Amino acid sequence: MQGTVLYGPRDVRFEQRPEPEVIHPTDAVIRMAATCVCGSDLWPYRGLQPIKDPTPMGHEYCGVVEEVGSAVKTLKPGQFVVGSFATSDNTCPHCRHGYQSSCVGREFMTSAQAPFLRVPLADGTLVPTAGGMPPEALIPDLLATSDVLGTGWFAADAANVKPGGTVVVVGDGAVGLLGVLSAKQMGAERIIAMSRHQPRQQLAREFGATDIVTERGDEGVALIKELTRGIGADSVLECVGTQESMAQAIQATRPGGSVSYVGVPHGVDLNAQKLFYTHVHLHGGPAPVRRYLPKLIELVLNETIKPGKVFDLVLPLKQVAEGYRAMDERRAIKALLRP
Ligand SMILES: [Zn+2]
Repeated sequence: MQGTVLYGPRDVRFEQRPEPEVIHPTDAVIRMAATCVCGSDLWPYRGLQPIKDPTPMGHEYCGVVEEVGSAVKTLKPGQFVVGSFATSDNTCPHCRHGYQSSCVGREFMTSAQAPFLRVPLADGTLVPTAGGMPPEALIPDLLATSDVLGTGWFAADAANVKPGGTVVVVGDGAVGLLGVLSAKQMGAERIIAMSRHQPRQQLAREFGATDIVTERGDEGVALIKELTRGIGADSVLECVGTQESMAQAIQATRPGGSVSYVGVPHGVDLNAQKLFYTHVHLHGGPAPVRRYLPKLIELVLNETIKPGKVFDLVLPLKQVAEGYRAMDERRAIKALLRP
């Protein structure tokens, strides 16, 4: 088969790769229905996160089980499944506490931008869709649950979004936009999206944003304070991962409020003494998407939410390099790839 490999900055190739097969008895191999390019793929793509060797890419996936290892108990070929970017046995203490992305057996998935994928710890990692094959029209929405929605949902959950609460979302990438959707689902009354890009503002509003703030930095914080009668927000979702976005998030939060951070931090330093006086709760990390998958899949299948709207570019998988380019140049929010 052919799959996606990153060779270096802005050098994405779609080239011959070994066909995945069951290696461990707990593995499954799935045939990809759809995959996509993640905002986090852009860090190595832009050379901001150096890679040593050519690296197979992709960690968002859904598709049909082709083959299972001899120890796989709950899945069988033909089932439609969604999994997360982190594998998990779903039985260890960390998994049972709901932190499957810290599973003792965790592996970070890669090489999903391909027509077939080996998934380790298949029983714990993969969630089958109820009612068999989902309608074709829902596949982008199901794909979104695999990472970008699961991460946005964790952002809202980790920032302690509550019914009636005031929420700020820093970052208008796909995760930030789905953080807006998640906060709306959790009953937030006011959702302030920080975005300066018109099409993204539009989608944020569709997902439930009540206010848009285009200013950044101190000006942005001042506006949030103004909108919250000088108090600050109850919950702030930091969905970028830079020093500026983190500082903005912490300063926009009221004392006793919560900041979640779900974008991999790059060059972020926190001043503990400054933080001390803010009284802010911080909770972040690689999202335990597996915790939320059953619920998110259900919300998609009963058409309560439409997270697949973040995919504003659909390409054949072999044009994956164009997907990276379009996202890098911010011509697309998120590129969906069809094998
Ligand atoms: Zn585990």
